[in-house]
Amino acid sequence: MISVPKGTKDVLPNQSYKWQYIEDAAREVARVFNYKEVRTPVFEHTELFQRGVGETTDVVKKEMYTFLDKGGRSMTLKPEGTAGVARMFIENGLASSPMPIKTFYITPAFRYENPQAGRLREFHQFGIEVFGSLSPETDAEVIFAASSFLNKLKIKGVKLEINSIGCRICRNEYNKALKNYFESRLEEMCANCRSRFDKNPLRILDCKEEKCKKLAEAAPKITDYLCEDCKKHFDTVRLLLDAQGLEYTVNPNIVRGLDYYSRTVFEFVSTSIGAQGTVCGGGRYDGLISELGGSNLPAIGFAAGIERLLLLMENTGVPFPEDKVPTIYLAGMDDKSRAQTFKIAMGLRERGVSAEVDHMQRSVKAQLKYADKAGAKFVAVIGESELESGVLNLKKMSDGTTAAVKSEELYTYLNKVIKEEK
Ligand code: ATP
Ligand code: MG
Repeated sequence: MISVPKGTKDVLPNQSYKWQYIEDAAREVARVFNYKEVRTPVFEHTELFQRGVGETTDVVKKEMYTFLDKGGRSMTLKPEGTAGVARMFIENGLASSPMPIKTFYITPAFRYENPQAGRLREFHQFGIEVFGSLSPETDAEVIFAASSFLNKLKIKGVKLEINSIGCRICRNEYNKALKNYFESRLEEMCANCRSRFDKNPLRILDCKEEKCKKLAEAAPKITDYLCEDCKKHFDTVRLLLDAQGLEYTVNPNIVRGLDYYSRTVFEFVSTSIGAQGTVCGGGRYDGLISELGGSNLPAIGFAAGIERLLLLMENTGVPFPEDKVPTIYLAGMDDKSRAQTFKIAMGLRERGVSAEVDHMQRSVKAQLKYADKAGAKFVAVIGESELESGVLNLKKMSDGTTAAVKSEELYTYLNKVIKEEK
């Protein structure tokens, strides 16, 4: 038997409603914050991610699904959403539209990682990206959007951690201080961090190895090195969060895994799903658009991992709404009645009522058993006498009560019930 590839997962028919619930919440948050959906290809030229995510990142160094297509071009399955959206933005000249441009996406992403709980090779992200605004209000709004999304899903126990990693100017000074600090401690660090030391010492702060984490704790803090402008920006973001009563802690060791971040960075972290606790991460990336050949336009965004959210919701018993069920199941006693169940069902479906009929030539008893399992709210059996009278004996499955309803009034009757339930 051929199995699903390692690190990927199927979404089964009795589980998909959970995905729909999370995605609906994402779309609803995007609607109220006025983010417009964008869709970009699943694969892009490899160079886009090399430049857009950064050569020194784990993602580019070891996690990308890269292949040559039949024309000999190097392609890569998107490991994240931002680079593709930034490319789309530049390529379509969106920089000449009124700013800011507020976008969102729901996308699969691919990383060649060691699969474990909350870490997959194909996973999904809900992300937003805002282009064109430098103002701290935008940073705050993006954080509010992420927080609204988590609140909408009734997720509890997730902590917001924020930091500012400054701009090119202050980071230069900071990198020097970091190098100074780590230089005498290189022996104690993992091999990966030893190579980060030369190319991008900031990234050492993002290492997951215990020994490196320990060293990072006592390292110089970026917050002590911010230039006046960056400090002011960060202070204003904090004031705006405070004004909404949004709780957070400043964690100077949050630097994010990708290369393109600047100034505000943030993560929403849970302690209920083990080591892979970050359910949502984001920040400003003012240098990305110009890095990719566009104009010098600032941008900011976040991405939330849908599988991690799902895991968190399941682990902490956050309730999901019930799966959708057919409003009515129409059972037929014989061929003629079956034909009638089809006709009535089609009439209802065309008017937006979910209706189910027998597909398996089952006995009435077996049909009713199936209707019960499918969770149908109402059941009606059609036989000779119903065909003759045109009156259905509608049984409400939740309490067993029955009602006689003329078939031409069935839609109005069911529609009223559906409305009352809402
Ligand atoms: P981590 O530190 O856990 O490796 P990351 O910094 O690589 O995360 P980002 O690139 O910021 O993650 O991606 C944003 C979000 O996407 C993460 O916070 C997480 O929820 C989700 N995510 C990232 N990688 C994976 C993965 N391999 N499997 C499932 N979800 C993932
Ligand atoms: Mg990672």
